[in-house]
Amino acid sequence: MKQVLISERNRYKGNLHCHTTLSDGRLTPEEICEAYRARGYAFLALSDHDTYYEHDDLQRKDFVVLNAYEQCIDRAQREPFGQGKCYHFNFFAKTPAHHELNIPPVPDYEDKAGINRMIADIKAQDFLCSYNHPYWSLQNFEDYTPLEGVDFLEVFNYGCYIGDGLHENQINVYDDMLRWGHCKPLFCTMTDDNHNVYPPDDYRTDSFGGWVMAGADELSYEAIIASLEAGDFYCSSGPVITYLAVDTAEKTVEVRTEPAKSISLSTMGRRGDRTEAEPGKTVDHAVFSLRDNDCFFRIEVTDADGRRADTNAYFLDDLFNK
Ligand SMILES: [Zn+2]
Ligand SMILES: [Zn+2]
Repeated sequence: MKQVLISERNRYKGNLHCHTTLSDGRLTPEEICEAYRARGYAFLALSDHDTYYEHDDLQRKDFVVLNAYEQCIDRAQREPFGQGKCYHFNFFAKTPAHHELNIPPVPDYEDKAGINRMIADIKAQDFLCSYNHPYWSLQNFEDYTPLEGVDFLEVFNYGCYIGDGLHENQINVYDDMLRWGHCKPLFCTMTDDNHNVYPPDDYRTDSFGGWVMAGADELSYEAIIASLEAGDFYCSSGPVITYLAVDTAEKTVEVRTEPAKSISLSTMGRRGDRTEAEPGKTVDHAVFSLRDNDCFFRIEVTDADGRRADTNAYFLDDLFNK
């Protein structure tokens, strides 16, 4: 039996990480919403640093503003390369308005239990949590595998990539957190984290480089949150995934895309599979078999420019043993 994994209802494009003049961004909330709306985006999370704002006045029928903020936890400067590690988390309000948020005291960087309590405390106030740009934050395995309660991980941060020149491909962190971490479900996102030092129409802009495509019945604050919370989305910096489904009887996964260079399957272990386009040609379809001990799988699509789309990870137990 076919089970569609990313719903084929309306797909809405959104950026889950954005800064404005309310913190260190160059454009006002109004200006940045208009820039994204003009580019065909349906939603945008305004996630200014350390202070939570609501943006009721910016909600439109054709554009949803998610109320969010980015929480920083800095470590004292201890690394030999002269910079301190930090945690950055985005928190997204699950309801649009009249939301009281009591931001708890910021725990010490080394107090992982305290950090998990902070995440739980804010989530209990009806928020979702993203763990942001671990490469920019100089973090590694020991920093991110103890995290609990995180809903999303940024596997690509366009601002860190184009603004800071960092590679910011964190798909390995996603695999680590799925294999050794304490967050399940854990979904992967690509975001802009834009500060707009260059205007949105400049080729160097840090906007419009990483996004999520959410499946939802309608465009509303509640419907977008429901889609994000259910993992009914994929993320991309270019390629388009049009269809993703498993056949629970055949134990296969089928992927359809707009013309791409490769479509690949990753699992919890070493086993994977790949459909690669012949030189000068493209692929738009792949079927991969699944094995019982794959534990989970996820799909990655690349285009000729090296840009990527990633699906969330799907656990075979959840799909086949319902
Ligand atoms: Zn950050
Ligand atoms: Zn940021």
